[in-house]
Amino acid sequence: MLNNNLDPEVAEDVENLVIYGGTGRAVRSWDAYENILAELRDLEVDETLLVQSGKPVGRFRTHEWVPQVLIVNCTVTSDYDTMEYYRDLEQHGKMMNGMYTAGSWAYIGTQGIIQGTYEVLAELADQHFDGDLEGKLVATGGLGGMGGAQPLAVTMNRGVCLVAELDEDRIERRIETGYCQERAADIDEAIERAQAAVDAKEPYSIAVQMNAADLIGELRDRDIVPDVITDQTSAHDELEGYYPSGYTVKEAQELREEDSERYVEQSFDTMERHADAILDLQERGAVAFDYGNDLRGQVAKHRGREDAFDYPGFAVAYMRPKLCRGEGPFRWAALSGNEADIYRIDEAVKDLFPEKDQLHRWIDMAQEQVEFQGLPARVCWLGYETDGSLTERARLALRMNDLVRSDEVDAPVVVTRDQLDAGSVTSATRATENMKDGTDGVADWPVLNALLNTASGADIVSFHGSAGKSLKSMSANNHVVLDGTDLAAEKAERVFTSDPGSGVVRHAEAGYEDALDEAESSDIHLPFRDE
Ligand code: NAD
Repeated sequence: MLNNNLDPEVAEDVENLVIYGGTGRAVRSWDAYENILAELRDLEVDETLLVQSGKPVGRFRTHEWVPQVLIVNCTVTSDYDTMEYYRDLEQHGKMMNGMYTAGSWAYIGTQGIIQGTYEVLAELADQHFDGDLEGKLVATGGLGGMGGAQPLAVTMNRGVCLVAELDEDRIERRIETGYCQERAADIDEAIERAQAAVDAKEPYSIAVQMNAADLIGELRDRDIVPDVITDQTSAHDELEGYYPSGYTVKEAQELREEDSERYVEQSFDTMERHADAILDLQERGAVAFDYGNDLRGQVAKHRGREDAFDYPGFAVAYMRPKLCRGEGPFRWAALSGNEADIYRIDEAVKDLFPEKDQLHRWIDMAQEQVEFQGLPARVCWLGYETDGSLTERARLALRMNDLVRSDEVDAPVVVTRDQLDAGSVTSATRATENMKDGTDGVADWPVLNALLNTASGADIVSFHGSAGKSLKSMSANNHVVLDGTDLAAEKAERVFTSDPGSGVVRHAEAGYEDALDEAESSDIHLPFRDE
């Protein structure tokens, strides 16, 4: 999985070890990478390797039931949690930003986020339109590792996507891999073609090379109100993630090196204009939501604009009902590298969950439209719900383990997920924004989640801090390798019960009825229930 993260088809910038999210890395340096591989090659089944911010730091005799790799990235105490301290550590080779799935070795390219983006837009279409985005215009920015999924997720929901991206290479990459259909010569052509597709009610996506703040501002000035507006530029990082207006990529890189303070100030100015345009268009009727890049938080904090929060975050608006039921971005990769293994597992998913129409539709569309990157992989949102004894995730994991055992798939399958899952993340501007009981910033939950995964027998467990507040979150991840053995089955049953279960517990404790219902119907013991 580490090598898969660093596969050039998967990572955004392999040479600099950047996997996604502007600076999200899987390892701290190439030396650290070589050292990790050397350790992994002769690691015994009852040993555990410790990885601290992307560097191997220790190896101990433990137990075959516990993780073989424990990873902790970018975690500091609150008095040290500043961008300056973090950047200084990073420059001195002492720390790295693991983002979410980069530092936990669970990134599988844009194919990993596509289903989440599809689900979010499907839920939005249910809430605001007639169940899909037919004849609707979605305007957004950013075609990076995550953002690159947006155009395809829009067209899968039958809508039209108009996306601004400053970096030409990113646009080309999304077009080559089938995530975006066309590239416009300029903004006029982009708007004209997008509007023609809206009128014709045709699913369509078009990218234009320009600053996203300028695109959204232009739409407002020309009085073109998109049906939906969001953004996935890396606004969470004002220096290395987001481009200020008025510069090409190359010019921005020069400014960054020559005068980083000026860069940052201009970045915040552009972000403020960006958020202003979103707010204006929202007032004129667009459905606006923040897609987890903290544009609102940056503008509120650095430009004193609390009104930036007048549009909601995606998790609150469109994901929470699912998270309450322990549902989230469950994913697996075929270590054989054979696409046929994923198709075989697709059949197993359909067979196990015959009643889940939307899941079946998703698999059919994914088979047709989502290109594999690196190891063939699939994401399906599954949750806690039990069939009387086993959760959805456990049922599927056990079936996959059986397929490995009976040689119906060619090699072990590794199962993991995104960190933005039901019980594994605290992030007050994303997954835990506006919690019912005010516990938006309580980070006991992801720590408990990581410990619980360790106690349940996951093969890799990771925990991520906030990287100088740039992530404003703490999160945990897990991997289980299904190698067809009885031990793998026992571990999988426990991990894929306790992991989504901790999400139900987290939301039940916060008072969400959906979570309390799920706990009741799936028989999760809640010691606080009688309160
Ligand atoms: P990335 O760094 O790989 O891509 C960002 C892209 O935005 C780059 O291609 C860059 O060229 C472009 N860009 C930056 N500033 C721009 C500007 N002003 N105008 C036009 N283009 C600009 O990052 P990513 O992995 O795609 O993630 C994007 C953001 O979305 C991040 O902030 C990430 O944290 C957030 N996100 C969060 C979630 C989540 O909460 N689960 C999900 C998806 C994305």
